[in-house]
Amino acid sequence: MLGTCLYCHTELERRAMTKHLSACPARRAAIEQAEQQNIPTEPLYHLFVEDAHDPYFWLHLEMRGSSTLKELDNYLRAIWLECCSHMSDFYIGSWQGRKLAKSRTVRQALHKGDQILHIYDYGDTSETRITVVSVREGKPTTPRPIVLMARNRAPDYRCVECGQPAVWWCWECLAEIGEMFCYCEACGRTHEHEYYGSGDEESAPEWAMPLVNSPRVGLCGYTGLRIRVLKASTPKHKRRNALDRWRSSSSILPAGGARCGGSVCGCV
Ligand SMILES: [Zn+2]
Ligand SMILES: [Zn+2]
Ligand SMILES: [Zn+2]
Ligand SMILES: [Zn+2]
Repeated sequence: MLGTCLYCHTELERRAMTKHLSACPARRAAIEQAEQQNIPTEPLYHLFVEDAHDPYFWLHLEMRGSSTLKELDNYLRAIWLECCSHMSDFYIGSWQGRKLAKSRTVRQALHKGDQILHIYDYGDTSETRITVVSVREGKPTTPRPIVLMARNRAPDYRCVECGQPAVWWCWECLAEIGEMFCYCEACGRTHEHEYYGSGDEESAPEWAMPLVNSPRVGLCGYTGLRIRVLKASTPKHKRRNALDRWRSSSSILPAGGARCGGSVCGCV
């Protein structure tokens, strides 16, 4: 369950990453740069985010204390969860715990050591656990509410036919056989389930669901960030426009102005 520090691109296990982030020289440099700016300080929250049932998926975030839980909800939807605007809520501890109003600021709602549960979709439910690792007083390193500091590596999905990296899984196979079969681009074209694609950037085989770095793959109609399904053959300006649209609608930004290496927004 290796992941990447988005400041220095070191790869580490999820627990080791917590320690690394407190000492990472590239992160320190980003913090020092922020401290020289003429902006107010505020409490900044180091949040460890993980899928409650699959330890493969995790994120380390830094969030401004003045931001709201609604902004955290938007972020989780954008990076991991959003399929069709399902309901979501935060609970203290577990489902049995008290519900937290999304209008509350992080500063009001959270303290060091707290653990909260985020529920997305009360049908095909995704449960995300969020732990407050630490709180520091300082100047935020970006104007956005949340900085992505580290993230698990994308899963190594393999094609069931040829063993090459897979890009799609077939929902018709899942419905008929109950298993999630993955296919590479080439084998997907000859998969027995029907292909309706027309060859432009919007098309994919009718059965094909994209394999993305999210614990929601396989649940409801989840297809990940739309930017991820744009093909390499898409003209550059179209890719750029889609990326711009996505950036302006979300609060995800790679840490400290660094590129995310394609793990978040396809910016490589
Ligand atoms: Zn680092
Ligand atoms: Zn859905
Ligand atoms: Zn293949
Ligand atoms: Zn199939």
